[in-house]
Amino acid sequence: MTPIFQTSTFEYLEPGKHKGYDYSRAGNPTRTALETALAALEGATHAISFASGLAAEQAIIQTLEPGSHVIVSDDTYGGTGRLFRRLFAKYNIEFEFIDLRNLPLLAQKIRPQTRMIWIETPTNPLLRIVDIQAITDLAKKASKQATHERIVTVVDNTFCSPILQKPLSLGADIVIHSTTKYIGGHSDLIGGAVMLNNQADAESLRFIQFAAGAVNAPFECFLLLRSIKTLALRMAKHNTNAQLVAHALKSIKNVKEVIYPGLKSHPEHLLASQQMQGFGGMISFRIEGGFEAAKQFFSRLRLFTLAESLGGVESLANHPQTMTHASVPESQREKLGIGADLIRLSIGIEDASDLIQDLSLALDF
Ligand SMILES: *Cc1c(COP(=O)(O)O)cnc(C)c1O
Repeated sequence: MTPIFQTSTFEYLEPGKHKGYDYSRAGNPTRTALETALAALEGATHAISFASGLAAEQAIIQTLEPGSHVIVSDDTYGGTGRLFRRLFAKYNIEFEFIDLRNLPLLAQKIRPQTRMIWIETPTNPLLRIVDIQAITDLAKKASKQATHERIVTVVDNTFCSPILQKPLSLGADIVIHSTTKYIGGHSDLIGGAVMLNNQADAESLRFIQFAAGAVNAPFECFLLLRSIKTLALRMAKHNTNAQLVAHALKSIKNVKEVIYPGLKSHPEHLLASQQMQGFGGMISFRIEGGFEAAKQFFSRLRLFTLAESLGGVESLANHPQTMTHASVPESQREKLGIGADLIRLSIGIEDASDLIQDLSLALDF
C-alpha cells in the first residue's frame, strides 16, 4: 500500500538538485499516487488533487483573465454559485447563469468574451440532465469563429463519479470533482480534483496550485486512494438502492413529486440513459404541507441523517432551501423551484428496504 508520506520537506542531493520532491506544496508521493489513480478513473492524462472541490473550482476560474465571460448552469451546487457571484465577480469576471438544457439560448449567450461554459449534470438539487456532447460541440464550433477565442468546457462530475459519466469522452475539456462526495464516499474528508488532457492547461492549473497552496494533506490522499478501491462497488449499490427508493417514494403518503433521472417520468430520462452508466444515488422529492411538514419529516427519520453533503455510504436527507442552497439568491431559488417543499436525499448503501421503511414511517403523519 502507498505509505502516507507525512512530511513537509524532502532532502536535497546538493544545492539546487532534489530527488524528485522538494516541498509538499509542490508535490508529495502519496498525492502523486492519488493523482495517477484519479487520472486513470476519468480516462485523463492529467489529474490534480486539491484541498476541496471549491479549491479546485477556484483554480479553474483563476486560469481566466479579468474581463472574461463565463456561462454557468443555473442549477448548480450552492457553493459554486457563491464562489462565482460573491468572490470572482469582484475580479471582473462575469458569470451568466442559464438553463443549459436550452441549447438555442446557450448559442445566443455566447459572445466574443466568452471563455468558459460551466456544466453540472445532473444538476443540483433538481437533478436535471444537461447534454454534455451537444454543449461541447457548440463550444467547439463557436471557438472556431474568428471573433472568438477558445471556449473551455468544464463539467462538475461530482454527482456521477467517474464510474457513471465520463465527460472527457463527450468532448469536455476539464472535469472537476468534489472528492468529498462519492470518490471519498465515507463522509470523513474534504477534497477536490481536476482531470484533463490538455498539457498547457494542466501546467497552468498546477502552477496556480503551487503558487497559492490549495493542496490536500498526505493522510487525505491515503484515505482517497483507499476509497477508490471500492468506488465501482459503492456506485453500483447507490444506483440500485436509489432506483428502488425512488420507485417506492412515488406511492408513499405525503409525497407530491419524485425527481430521479432513473424514473420514466423524468423529462430527460432518455438522455440520462444514454449519457450515464446508471442514474446515481441522488433523489429529490416534494412533500405535501410545506416547511412544517418538511420539519416533521426530518425529525421523524431514524436511518437518514439530516445533514449537508452527499455521496457517503450512509444515507442523508437535506433541505436545500435552508441548507445547501441557502446562499442562492431567493429570486433565483423561486425561479428554479427550490422551495420549502423540496427535499434532497443522498441514498447510501444500506439495505434498501430499511431505507424505504424509514421514509414511509417518517412521512406517515
Ligand atoms: C460539494 C460540492 C462541491 C464543493 O466541494 P467541496 O469539497 O465541498 O469544496 C462542488 N460541486 C458539487 C456538485 C458538490 O456537491
